[in-house]
Amino acid sequence: EGKETRLRVVLRVRPLTCTETRRGDRQVVHSLGDGAVHVSAARHDATFGFSAVFDAGASQEAVFEGSGMRQLVELAMDGFSCTVFAFGQTGSGKTYTLMGPLAQSETQPASPALLGLMQRSFTCLLEQSRSRGSDLALSASYLEIYNEQVRDLLSPGPPCALPLRWSKTRGFYVENQLRVEFESLEAIVSLLLQGSQRRRTSAHALNRHSSRSHALLTIHIHSRAVSAHPAPGEGWGASACPSKQGTLCFVDLAGSERVKETGSSGELSVEANSINRSLLALGHCISLLAKPRGKRTHIPYRDSKLTRLLARSLGGSGITLMVACISPSSRCLSETLSTLHYASRARSVTTRP
Ligand code: ADP
Ligand code: MG
Repeated sequence: EGKETRLRVVLRVRPLTCTETRRGDRQVVHSLGDGAVHVSAARHDATFGFSAVFDAGASQEAVFEGSGMRQLVELAMDGFSCTVFAFGQTGSGKTYTLMGPLAQSETQPASPALLGLMQRSFTCLLEQSRSRGSDLALSASYLEIYNEQVRDLLSPGPPCALPLRWSKTRGFYVENQLRVEFESLEAIVSLLLQGSQRRRTSAHALNRHSSRSHALLTIHIHSRAVSAHPAPGEGWGASACPSKQGTLCFVDLAGSERVKETGSSGELSVEANSINRSLLALGHCISLLAKPRGKRTHIPYRDSKLTRLLARSLGGSGITLMVACISPSSRCLSETLSTLHYASRARSVTTRP
């Protein structure tokens, strides 16, 4: 407790897509084993190191087991604030890693082998809570940040903006967000689906396939105090296990690069600019946080809603796992290098859980 802990950063390289293969893209990213990855292209030749690297052949299960996600779920149950965020350019596999292809098709349910980190974590959480036999209360909230507005993805009706506030005790928090209790895997998966469909509707209205918002699903884990039967002579109120309140937050970030390519205007450019601005703010905070504590200046969390909501995970008392996602294609080289630099910098960010 109170000790500095580093952000854990793992890398996932997705397979080349059919389109990429058909048009003859070269594979420029190669896993070297032992957490190292090599990028080689015309004028670039670089090696990067991570806690783990998952290449094109890695299954969803391998990512869950090898990324430290299971431990993160357990830490959240022990009362810590845990966050996992997927980071990388549009189409690099962030949503696939977090949710699997389930989010993409409504009609057929995804095969269990393809379920992402989120569903695997829910299963793990519910199993653990049963085996620990503790008295757990689970609830979920689901938000998106769209055009610098925080919106509730679980409350019915048209999306409305929620205020983001700060208090000394809570840090940054969203006021009036809906929290829905759940007890079963079916219930939480259905909340996830409901929320992501809402998120997608807004993207769909603008005729976009990629997510144009950042989405944050938080599981609140409240374990009620279990009081032991007092031994003779002992007073009441001696509790064997104090009450704990942990959180497990999944962050699916929107990608940034489309703007530069399309030079979009009007509503799309407002949308793209706010995505870019918040990702830039995130990058800026991470670079400053990566400096040794003594040399740090003020961290500008207030520059965007995203950095405010991630302040605790990045620089506070949270425990954080970053899954950087990249495409192996030669066409994505510059975005890939930028993700790799960004992700390696994030490895020296520390928090005090
Ligand atoms: P992002 O959320 O980063 O924009 P997606 O997760 O939507 O990207 O992935 C883009 C496409 O690549 C999707 O069609 C997805 O199914 C596919 N894909 C991503 N990662 C993998 C993977 N590891 N294995 C197979 N297909 C993948
Ligand atoms: Mg996505």
